[in-house]
Amino acid sequence: MLDDGYLLPPFEMPEAESIRMTLLNILRWFDNYGYLNSSGKKLVIVYDDMCHLLRYAIKRQHLHPGIEAFVKEAEHCVDRFHFVHNHKGVWCDLNVNPFTMEELKGVNTEICEQRFK
Ligand SMILES: [Zn+2]
Repeated sequence: MLDDGYLLPPFEMPEAESIRMTLLNILRWFDNYGYLNSSGKKLVIVYDDMCHLLRYAIKRQHLHPGIEAFVKEAEHCVDRFHFVHNHKGVWCDLNVNPFTMEELKGVNTEICEQRFK
């Protein structure tokens, strides 16, 4: 989801739910754009399993500048529904908590679940 609530991509990605494929897709989508919006603020990337994706990327950020940019230049969050039900750990609370992110106030973080059944 982009900072103004747009879905990226605007379609479901069947067979692409592995962490590796998700990271590769994100790197491809943002390769030419970076992770700042037009106001210079970090984009907030919302993903239902962001805690695993972000930890996967942190461990591999030394391997590619695109992975390092994703880790350091973007904001990362789990959507509210999955955060409440699946993300109970301290690390998740500190690093991917949608309830503490000011930028997500008023944003429907569950739109993917609602649109893709
Ligand atoms: Zn988590």
